[in-house]
Amino acid sequence: MGEQKGALPRGPARKRFGQHFLHDPGVIARIVEAIDPDRERRLIEIGPGHGALTFPLLERAGRLEVIEIDRDLIPGLIERAAGRGELIAHEADVLKVDFASLAGPGRTLRLCGNLPYNISTPFLFHVLAAGASLIDMHFMLQREVVARMAARPDTGEYGRLTVMLAVHCEVEHLFDVGPGAFRPPPAVHSSIVRLLPHASPPFPIADSARFAQVVARAFGQRRKTLRNSLKHVVDAAGFEATGIDAGRRAETLSPEEFARLAATPAPAPL
Ligand code: SAM
Repeated sequence: MGEQKGALPRGPARKRFGQHFLHDPGVIARIVEAIDPDRERRLIEIGPGHGALTFPLLERAGRLEVIEIDRDLIPGLIERAAGRGELIAHEADVLKVDFASLAGPGRTLRLCGNLPYNISTPFLFHVLAAGASLIDMHFMLQREVVARMAARPDTGEYGRLTVMLAVHCEVEHLFDVGPGAFRPPPAVHSSIVRLLPHASPPFPIADSARFAQVVARAFGQRRKTLRNSLKHVVDAAGFEATGIDAGRRAETLSPEEFARLAATPAPAPL
């Protein structure tokens, strides 16, 4: 992860980095208000781009760190930050940043950003690995992804992403943003989501690898009953021990019920 100083010209939006830059002042103000930066808690913005959110955040926080993959954008950000606060730019791929070590032992971070939508699911799984190091997160993501993150059981949006996130944090859909707020406008609508990591696990997960396997298999064949989708993963004794009807389908189970199924012993291999 490199830190940069100096000035280079601004380049055109790069498609491969998912660059759609916010320009609507009303939307920018609303996002900054939702993040509510302060001078006490360390804030990191992911994907600052040309700084639409960066400078208002910096002015309120006094100090801001940014993580940007496109090295050509960083000098312009540093130059324009002069006199507005302390801006620290990390040139890095956010998927390779270890947030627990960036926070430091026993220290905490706040994360925010208008993320490139093509990396949103791997990014969310990656960032949750930082666990107790995160105070809160505010992200702009594709509207459909936020709907899946915040979904209730028994809906078409409820799925693997919902259940895996529920283990780690509370998910709050704040508001939607239309394509016209960006240049160039993306093909999809966006939403702002707030993630609040749980202070303590909402239910016990004895073996997180088995939990992830049970959830992935159940939703991999979501139209099938659990008896079929979880064949060789949870046996009849497992369903009986938990009292969960094997005739149900994945989307009817709460995250806590998935945890109970995952706590049953895996059937012996055939
Ligand atoms: N925050 C700016 C705004 O709202 O106008 C830019 C948002 S643009 C949708 C996404 C930003 O994330 C771009 O600046 C892009 O270069 C950066 N980015 C893309 N992939 C990244 C990655 N893997 N790690 C860090 N930054 C990335």
